Amino acid sequence: MTAEGQLVERVIQQVWGFDALRPLQREAIEAGVDGRDALVVLPTGGGKSLCFQAPPLVRQKLAVVVSPLIALMKDQVDGLVSNGYPAAALHSMMDEAESAEVVRRARAGELRLLYIAPERLVNPWITEMLREAVVDAFIIDEAHCISQWGHDFRPEYRQLATLRQRFPGVSVRAFTATATERVREDIVHQLGLDDPLLLVGDFDRPNLVYRVQARANARGQIAEALERHRGEASIVYCISRAETERTAAALRDKGFGAAHYHAGMQPDDRKRVQDDFMQERTDVVVATVAFGMGIDRSDVRCVVHTAMPKSVEHYQQEAGRAGRDGLEAECLLLYSGADPIRWLELMERSAGEAGVSVSDDQRALVWEMRDYCSSVTCRHASLVRYFGQPFSKHEREGGCGACDVCLGELVEVDDATMIARKICACVARLEQRYGAGHVIDVLRGGNTQRIREQGHDRLSTYALLRGHAGPALRSYVDQLVDGGLLVRSADEYKVLRLTDEGVSLMKGEGAVRLIEPKKTKKSSAAATRDSADWEGVDQVLFDALRGLRREIAGELAVPAYIVFGDTTLREMARAMPTDLREMARVKGVGAKKLESFGERFLELIIEHTEIAS
Ligand code: ADP
Ligand code: ZN
Repeated sequence: MTAEGQLVERVIQQVWGFDALRPLQREAIEAGVDGRDALVVLPTGGGKSLCFQAPPLVRQKLAVVVSPLIALMKDQVDGLVSNGYPAAALHSMMDEAESAEVVRRARAGELRLLYIAPERLVNPWITEMLREAVVDAFIIDEAHCISQWGHDFRPEYRQLATLRQRFPGVSVRAFTATATERVREDIVHQLGLDDPLLLVGDFDRPNLVYRVQARANARGQIAEALERHRGEASIVYCISRAETERTAAALRDKGFGAAHYHAGMQPDDRKRVQDDFMQERTDVVVATVAFGMGIDRSDVRCVVHTAMPKSVEHYQQEAGRAGRDGLEAECLLLYSGADPIRWLELMERSAGEAGVSVSDDQRALVWEMRDYCSSVTCRHASLVRYFGQPFSKHEREGGCGACDVCLGELVEVDDATMIARKICACVARLEQRYGAGHVIDVLRGGNTQRIREQGHDRLSTYALLRGHAGPALRSYVDQLVDGGLLVRSADEYKVLRLTDEGVSLMKGEGAVRLIEPKKTKKSSAAATRDSADWEGVDQVLFDALRGLRREIAGELAVPAYIVFGDTTLREMARAMPTDLREMARVKGVGAKKLESFGERFLELIIEHTEIAS
């Protein structure tokens, strides 16, 4: 290793307490140390921050970080300062005196990182200040915000295109978790990156267990998943604001410490929910996707989607908020065949209001997400292939070992073809004029007013599938729609019709597969405390350490992860250091944190081992 490489390692060990770099971190840091332009694409949790935070310490110069949200900036700066890193932010929530002090430190060469909101960078006064402070590099975080092809376009990011001209000779490095080719090209083009080093990480998140379930009784399904993660951080995503409120209330009735969050709430209430979550006073947040980007909590153990998200890219982003610390976590998606249509309606409506039309490309994104939900292939493989990467683990026996498909949680339905034929026959008997609900009522031999009025109890298909549960039949209908045997009308009635293939099947040609969840033990062992990440960890001690962390976070009014991450606490509960020297060897314990918190954690560990022995 070069002398420079050794210096990088020493700095990282000293400040962050990390003893190894993650894939591509070394390359990204080297580009920073060399002052080269770069575009770094790493999935959420891949460790992008370290890539731009380490080089300024080595170069002993100031880098400016552009970040879209004040909350995100504040969390990063707090985290850095707790590690003894000279960092600060300039944003609109600061008063004049605070800003003046930051500017003074930047000019005096005391800072290594300065976080600034994009719209402030065009301010002539700030430009002048940055020239005087001799800025050495610009870091564009969440760089996909510059592209209208991305999922989170922000007009104020467009102004960054002028940085190159205004600061010639200053290197620019962009970071994002967005994987599409088009967005990447757009970033390079807009920022005018000069011969950039392109680093694209592996999009698979092996520590996440993905599950897709047909939505049958949503609240019960959500509770069952959360039950596997009691006392741990979870996020439940809903599409509408009202749903977040209702669902959070229902979960509280079931004894979960749940709060709701959406963009329609008062800023103070939003902040309180966010702070409670960050300081571990709230375990479960039920939210619209407005909750997420500013949430830097790395120990989220479970993300539930109560309905299908808008695109695979959105899903990757939102589900990706689980397990950023690299430890196992679960992502559950509840899907109904009506979800894609609901999205298309929402898109049409908001496009209509804006006086534009929904493009075929946008529609295709919804159907691609539907394909993910309805397919029975490995979820990890589907996701990484969607992002254009190969997936090889699948060849190994047992597949990825971390999705419902590979874990064998889905099984093929016996008599699938026969059931499908009966469903298609019933759609035909009802003259292709009814939605799934009524078709299912007829098949199950229901006694509804509509059935009586229409005389549908005299149809030959009446009660043909008596004994099958309603939600199971609903899932079969969805699967037949997804498989192209039935279509649903796109209007509000969602009438089922037969396709040519559906007609052939009804006449006895061909065969179909249907799947259903395996009916065995309630919760799977994966993504619970039995898994390998817990090997050698004293779980009682771990819980006690988390308690201490919560206490300290409360005292300092900082997010709990600023004290220590879960990885570090588990490592402590595994290694059980007996003095500060041993404590310093625990991954995630840097010099500053050892000084700030070492004693208190050590005391607790020693106390625990004495009681235990
Ligand atoms: P991203 O911004 O790419 O989503 P972060 O920079 O927030 O990811 O990093 C995710 C988590 O991984 C954080 O808790 C961070 O402290 C941790 N981390 C980053 N790099 C390393 C490393 N080399 N070793 C151990 N932990 C790391
Ligand atoms: Zn799999």
